[in-house]
Parts: sequence; C-alpha cells; structure tokens
Amino acid sequence: MQVTFLGTAAAEGYPAIWCRCERCAIARSRGGPNLRFRASILVNDDLLVDPGPDLVAASIRHGLDLADVQAVLITHLHDDHVDPTTLYWRAPGFAVPPLPEALVVGTGPSLRRLHDRNGVPLNPDSTRLRMHAATLGERIEVATGGIQSADPRAKPERTRIPSGVPTTGPARRYEVVVVPASHAGPTEEAAFFAIRQVLGPEAEARHGNDAPAILYATDTGPFSDAAWELLHTLGDEGWRYDTVIIDATLGTGGPGTSHMNLDQVAWHHDELARRDLTRHGARRMAHHFSHNGTPPHEELVAHLAPLGIVPSYDGLSLDA
Ligand SMILES: [Zn+2]
Ligand SMILES: [Zn+2]
Repeated sequence: MQVTFLGTAAAEGYPAIWCRCERCAIARSRGGPNLRFRASILVNDDLLVDPGPDLVAASIRHGLDLADVQAVLITHLHDDHVDPTTLYWRAPGFAVPPLPEALVVGTGPSLRRLHDRNGVPLNPDSTRLRMHAATLGERIEVATGGIQSADPRAKPERTRIPSGVPTTGPARRYEVVVVPASHAGPTEEAAFFAIRQVLGPEAEARHGNDAPAILYATDTGPFSDAAWELLHTLGDEGWRYDTVIIDATLGTGGPGTSHMNLDQVAWHHDELARRDLTRHGARRMAHHFSHNGTPPHEELVAHLAPLGIVPSYDGLSLDA
C-alpha cells in the first residue's frame, strides 16, 4: 500500500501564514521538507484522506492529479481537514468528464461541512460523489477500480473518452474502520481511520491477516477507551499495522488531550506494540506539525531518531 503525504502541517500551515517566529523564518529559508501544507494523504492513487484547503496547491506542487480517486475519507469537520470547494472542482466546467464516481465517508458533522460553500449545498450528481454518513466504530468496505460506470455528465464533443467510461485502474478493496478520536466536541464526532487493503496489486502477495494496513491517527489526543477497545477487536481479528501515523501537533511542548506531544506519540507507538497491535518492525511516524510546538524538520528528525520515530513531510511517498 503506497502512502503519499500531500500535507503534514496543523491548521495554520508551517511556516504559518501570518507568522515571523524563528521556526517559521527558518522553515522559509531552508525550504524543502520544512514547507508543510495542511495534513492530507493519498493511499495508492485512489483513496484520499482529508480534502483540505491545500489540496489544489499540493496537487500542483507534487505533479499529481487526483482523477483516479474513488474514495474520500474525512477525519473531522475542522477547516484544515475539509474544504468544501476542493470537491466542487470535480464538476464539469472545472474537470473534464468522465470521472469515476467517488465515495465520500465521514461522520454527519464532517459531511455537513461539504455544504458550507457560500450556503450552496454540494451537488452529488454534478460532482459525481456518493455520500456515506458514517457512525463512530463503523466498518466500511471500499471497492475501487475494476469495471466503472459511465459518467452521465460526459458529452461526446467535450470529453477525452467518447464512451464516457472513466479509464480503469486496477481493482482494489479496502476495509476502513472509523475510530473515535479524542478531538473536537462530542457532537462533532471526530474520527481517525484504520485502513487495510485486502485486494489489489499492492496486496497481491499478502493474503488474509498479512494484508497491508495503516493506522492514520490524526487529529487526536490520547486514545480513548473506546478507541483502544475497537483497535483490540480488530487486533483479535488479525489486523496488524505496517505503518502507524500519529498526531504530533504539540511537538516538544507539554502533553495534550485533543492533540499530542512527541512523548505521547512515542508512548502510543510503544503501547500499540506492547498490545501486539502492530507488525514486528512497524513504521512509527509522527504527523500534523505546528510551528508552535515543533522544531524545523532537520532538528525534528534528530530528536525523533532515538525514539525510532520518523516524521512525515510533504511529498514523502512510502510503501506502507
Ligand atoms: Zn488538524
Ligand atoms: Zn482538528
């Protein structure tokens, strides 16, 4: 399973737009991995987590189109994770059809944010989206690729593919579990995701419980009892994570309850291994960085190395 980091910053970006603090100044002068868009990842080329406000910029910066995306997962309703306009640009006039249909998965409050665009609701037909209001703890099967339905928006004279059938990618299947996050208010139903790929070229040699899996745990504070319980249920069924990506917004600052510092991140990685929920040698990652808590990338790498943790950075693509 290929994971590409499209953005790795907390809400205000890193360097932050209105900020001239020492860290932001260093990030601007060093560039490279110090320049972080708001957090978002692409799994293979067809599953996107968090259509945030930097998605257009990230697509341009990394030379990636998202035309094969057929599943969009939204962790929670905060501005840095969901921007209603990013999905609106799928409409004809902005993208040339055909596009494959994409399933959008988020809790009710997250999906409601998609209708925030100047008070105009997002039209699922013109954007070719299928909404799925998820409940915390729910498991969803996501199928991508394979045989696709024609895009009814495609007009023969204005289309790359006269049949209106989107180009076909390899058939993949994911199991997605909506884990309750310790983040935002109780009515806001913030989530993070456990994702396992059970079909597709990336999962070919890995059958059954050997299927590649990641835990994408941002934004969240220390895992709740409910989250641990759910992770244990999955563990009992054979889920083991190859890569665990954890919220590190508070960096070298004090511990938090709705985000975590680096010590809390390390504790969670250790605890997941101790509870036998990760694969032996699992990749331990920190993610979602703020200039308020986190030193520049090079110092961050050095700080995390003794803990066996690697920080995410924009453009990083790895085989999870
Ligand atoms: Zn965030
Ligand atoms: Zn948030």
